Formats: sequence, structure tokens, C-alpha cells
Amino acid sequence: MPLSPEQQAEIDALRAEPMPTLRATVPGIEAHLYKAVPLLDHGFVRVIDYMGDDSAICQAARVSYGKGTKSVQNDEGLIRYLMRHWHSTPFEMCELKLHVKLPVFVARQWIRHRTANVNEYSARYSILDREFYIPEPDALAAQSAINNQGRGEALQGEEAARVLEWLKTDAMRSYDHYAEMISQDGQQGLARELARMNLPANIYTQWYWKVDLHNLFHFLRLRADSHAQYEIRVYADEICKLVADWVPFAYKAFEDYRLGAVTMSAQMVDCLRRMLAGEEVTEENCEMSKREFREFKAMLG
Ligand SMILES: Cc1cc2nc3c(=O)[nH]c(=O)nc-3n(C[C@H](O)[C@H](O)[C@H](O)COP(=O)(O)OP(=O)(O)OC[C@H]3O[C@@H](n4cnc5c(N)ncnc54)[C@H](O)[C@@H]3O)c2cc1C
Repeated sequence: MPLSPEQQAEIDALRAEPMPTLRATVPGIEAHLYKAVPLLDHGFVRVIDYMGDDSAICQAARVSYGKGTKSVQNDEGLIRYLMRHWHSTPFEMCELKLHVKLPVFVARQWIRHRTANVNEYSARYSILDREFYIPEPDALAAQSAINNQGRGEALQGEEAARVLEWLKTDAMRSYDHYAEMISQDGQQGLARELARMNLPANIYTQWYWKVDLHNLFHFLRLRADSHAQYEIRVYADEICKLVADWVPFAYKAFEDYRLGAVTMSAQMVDCLRRMLAGEEVTEENCEMSKREFREFKAMLG
């Protein structure tokens, strides 16, 4: 269970005390504030705070004094123009602060995104919980035969059972030794900062993660993509839903011009033009590598 009854009570108490403010607020994201959305087996994501809304992007772009809104259509049109033409700084005026609980191996991928502010739970100071990510049977996949950085079909039968058993028993044995090493019951007790090195990468950690909307979109573009590992993608997919409720115009523009868009090289554009003119473009006459041509064909569906 991701939250204890005490933690849930703290969240309920926070949500029970709304405060008036002159700042921009968005009902869509207010509805999510503080609530934990469960992810994987013990993880969650929850919104702690946010700054700005769709009109804050337009305000910044227009450097206006008031709300800056000429009309809702104007705002949406401007946001789409900004996104389409990579005018990124107005999107940096919006910020999102999340509390995320995630397995350490997912955190290692996540932390590569350097343009956020992070504060992680200290395993030097505190004792980690006995919580490990154990994949659901359909996520317990075999190595992909075509992609070294991917997975294929789910493991089956005896192999699946054996792998699952090892994942569970290895995690429990490591944690038992961790707990014994730090115990001060009749012994000195190893420092927490050292004992943690015995723990596997599927143990859960937590952090506060604050990022501006431009860099959040960059993160989501990479991590909500089908090439991203499933375990980080479930977090990215959930954050996409939160962002859609927070800044709906910006999110729609992101979906249209980033998430669902493709980037074509000069050679690809040339080939597309030739195809539209009726020419048969092949791997031999496309002036692209075999792989790039395959990607080009995939883009065209
Ligand atoms: C599917 C997938 C597979 C991956 N595989 C691997 C792998 O095998 N090995 C591996 O090491 N990584 C891997 N990565 C991580 C990847 O290479 C990036 O490190 C990660 O996605 C963060 O991207 P970023 O640097 O663009 O993001 P951020 O760090 O958030 O930066 C955002 C942007 O800010 C700018 N920026 C930030 N910091 C700097 C800086 N110091 N100097 C210049 N510009 C900066 C860049 O324009 C950057 O694109 C993988 C990522 C994905 C999505």
C-alpha cells in the first residue's frame, strides 16, 4: 500500500483547508492537489504545488500587465504558435512540483533529466521501507530479439515462476540483512549510509521533483514514448494526464506538435516530395542508411 492511514489523514487535512489567493489557480489541477495516484506496486505520484496556467504562458509571451487574455481562442492560438515554432521560454513560466515514489532503477533514468530540482529521501538519515518493485506477470518480459534496449513477450510457465520467486526472495534476503546490519540490538549497528549498499535496485525511493513546463514536456516527450522503459512510462503517462488537467491548451499543443509529431531529416523531406510527385523511392535511391529508411517508412505508417 503506497500510503499509510496517517499519511492519508495528513493529505485529507491539507485538502480540507482551502485558502484564498490572488494567484492564478486551475480547478483541473486543484482537484489533484496532494492526492497520491498509485503506480506500479508501491509507487505513486502526487501534485504538491503548481505555478501558472495557460494564460501565464500568454502573459509572459506578451509581457502583459494584466491577465493578458484577448480571448480564449487568441490564447490557444498563441500557445500553439509558440509550441510549433519552439518559442520555449514562455512555457518556463509555469512550474509543477511533484512528490514521486519510484523504484531506484526508475529513479536512475529519471534523474538524467538535469533541468529539474530534486530532493530525495535520505537513506543515510532514515531507514528504507521493505518495499520492492516486483513486476506483474505481463510485465515480466523476455529480452527483445530485435532491440538490445527493449523487451519482448512475457516470460511463461516455469521460467516466469522461477524468476518471480528469485526477485522476491533475493529482495527479502537483502532487506533482512540490511535490517540486521543496522540493528543496534546488542551490537554497534552499521551506519545506514553503508548498510543500504546491500539493497537491490528495485527498492523504492521517494523525492520531491520540481520542473518548469518546457522541461517537463521534454521529459514527457522522451519518457511517455513507446521506446521508454515500461516502468518509467507509467509515471510519464500519469503526469501527462495531470498536465492535461492543468494547462489544457499547452498540453494539446504538446500532443500535436511533439508527442504525436515526427522529425524528418532533409533527406526524408526530399524523399517525401519525390513520392508525392509519383516517383518510387527505394532503399537504393533514397540516400539514407538502411535504418533511417526503415524509420522513414515507419513514420509514414
Ligand atoms: C529511450 C531512452 C534510452 C536511453 N538510453 C540511455 C543509455 O543507454 N545510456 C545513457 O547514459 N543514457 C540514456 N538515456 C538518457 C538520455 O541520453 C538523456 O540523458 C536523458 O533522456 C535526459 O535528456 P536531456 O539531457 O535532454 O534532459 P535534461 O537533462 O532535462 O536537459 C534538457 C535539455 O537541456 C539542455 N541541457 C541540460 N543540461 C545541459 C548541459 N549540461 N549541457 C548542455 N545542454 C544541457 C539540453 O538541451 C537538454 O536536451 C536514454 C534516454 C531515453 C529516453
